[in-house]
Amino acid sequence: ADLSRFLKPSQFGWIQILNPEVFGALITVNNRDEWIYHVTYNPSNGESPEDFSEERCCEILKKAIGVSSLDIVIFSILPWAAAEQTATRFQDNRVFLIGDAAHLMPPTGGFGSNTGIQDAHNLAWKLAAVIHKQAHPRLLQTYHDERHYAVELTTKYASDLLFSVIKKGVSTLNSMDHTAVTVGYKYNSTAIIKENSDTPHRMDQLEL
Ligand SMILES: Cc1cc2nc3c(=O)[nH]c(=O)nc-3n(C[C@H](O)[C@H](O)[C@H](O)COP(=O)(O)OP(=O)(O)OC[C@H]3O[C@@H](n4cnc5c(N)ncnc54)[C@H](O)[C@@H]3O)c2cc1C
Repeated sequence: ADLSRFLKPSQFGWIQILNPEVFGALITVNNRDEWIYHVTYNPSNGESPEDFSEERCCEILKKAIGVSSLDIVIFSILPWAAAEQTATRFQDNRVFLIGDAAHLMPPTGGFGSNTGIQDAHNLAWKLAAVIHKQAHPRLLQTYHDERHYAVELTTKYASDLLFSVIKKGVSTLNSMDHTAVTVGYKYNSTAIIKENSDTPHRMDQLEL
């Protein structure tokens, strides 16, 4: 629905809407007439994604926005669940796992596709070098060696962010800064010439 009349001149990326009838997060796509609304359901109360018909979703949205006469078109209704999973191996012979096929993490922190893009970047130039016979196929093994540690750390960090909010707990990883989680690690693999033997695998803070 076009919500621009309620917003001008404000804009936002993400807003939590809490009222006695609905609890969810409204996220902008174009800050005008395309939006994503996240609403929770509780399987232990017998609720399931099938309970969210288009009609019910329209009702929820109207309650969230606070206007009953909105002209809403629903593009899609997608269930998702937060998970923390990293594949034990990113390569099996000629098969490589990248992106969500290799790792799942909660959306807290917004690391999911960034991590997948880093996987793709790491693998793509190595594949090109091997296919063009500029490198030995052994180079491809360094994809797992380099990415697996960084991915596990990122996945754990994203998960800790979610659970520290829910359980109000603090993890040792919470002391890392966000940018360091995204780019603050050094790869250890046979493709890297080590500066010295105690090169740290991860940096908790970055000087920007
Ligand atoms: C609520 C939410 C918020 C998020 N927010 C962020 C964020 O802010 N920042 C961020 O970086 N990440 C975020 N993510 C994570 C991000 O969306 C995913 O990490 C990313 O989309 C994964 O990309 P992918 O290409 O690996 O997998 P996908 O996007 O899942 O793409 C896989 C594609 O393969 C297709 N496919 C599946 N099976 C087959 C088949 N057999 N044949 C052909 N095609 C097939 C699928 O249809 C799909 O199009 C968020 C995720 C969620 C759920």
